[in-house]
Amino acid sequence: MSPIRLALVGLGKIARDQHLPAIAATPEIELVAVASRNARLAGVDCFRSIEELLAEVSDIDAVALCTPPIVRREQAMAALAARKHVLLEKPPGPTVGELNPLVAMAKRENRTLFAAWHSRFAPAVEPARAFLARHRARSVTILWQEDVRVWHPGQDWIFEPGGLGVFDPGINALSILSAILPEPVFVSGAKLDFPANRQAPIAAEVELASISGLPIHGSFDFRQSGEQFWSIEIETDAGRLVLAFGGARLSLDGEPLVDEQEEEYRGVYRRFVELVRTSGIDADAVPLCLVADVFMLGRRSVVEDFMW
Ligand code: NAP
Repeated sequence: MSPIRLALVGLGKIARDQHLPAIAATPEIELVAVASRNARLAGVDCFRSIEELLAEVSDIDAVALCTPPIVRREQAMAALAARKHVLLEKPPGPTVGELNPLVAMAKRENRTLFAAWHSRFAPAVEPARAFLARHRARSVTILWQEDVRVWHPGQDWIFEPGGLGVFDPGINALSILSAILPEPVFVSGAKLDFPANRQAPIAAEVELASISGLPIHGSFDFRQSGEQFWSIEIETDAGRLVLAFGGARLSLDGEPLVDEQEEEYRGVYRRFVELVRTSGIDADAVPLCLVADVFMLGRRSVVEDFMW
């Protein structure tokens, strides 16, 4: 079967750190072009925008949209209208409502729409899901605390409307949580800290629950210095299950169950290849709905200005 001819749109941090190596390691995909307003990549055709790319290159099969969420809907619509398969970086967009129209468009054009929740491909996620299918969870604590200056240097878009602030990484925790628990969860309360000079929260405390009453607390903070946390701790009837380092490690009562090199984006592209072969759609809105509910329900506090 001939490789899927792919164009990357938005050659920024995640495209360079993760997409390029994962694409290079996926023989079923050939990177043929890049569309980015400022960046260039040697060895492939480069364009300033997706419109220019679609106008000038007819023989691409798919695009991976690695731009900030606020511009992705229009890019996805342009790509689907040109009958290209589409991979959306997470979150699939800045609003919940735009996902269904994109799904409808993908179905109409018989193309793939893949909302890629990369954290769900971390090595500890499936073992954690299997464990929780066998054992009862009693409480869950999410700690997603990182230094925005280290992980998102100068990315002003993250604090703009639609950038999600601390939920840009925090939504990864919710994508894992909703994949590993055997029952759906909902937001029951939240407190959001907005810097006085920014439009999106820099920190949040979130309460969630399940129908059966499982209590879940999430602590999200972009101001973390020193040790960084991307962990989900679950007290169960069989011990304390800890998913750490964003899902690279899993332990039970301190005993390691999984400790692997994370290769999330290899999994993302394996899944994309599967989907493209059948023009399949995989566009789960649940993590985005939870974040939207946090914004709807959360009490808002104003905290000190944030400067890079
Ligand atoms: P980034 O470093 O800012 O890269 C995004 C790129 O998109 C920019 O370099 C820019 O390239 C282009 N872009 C920016 N604003 C644009 C606009 N208004 N219109 C068109 N293109 C624009 O951001 P990133 O960290 O790669 O994040 C991109 C997406 O990946 C986000 O949704 C994020 O949640 C997700 N993600 C990020 C990480 C991470 O660790 N950083 C991890 C996983 C997923 P040009 O200036 O050349 O156009």
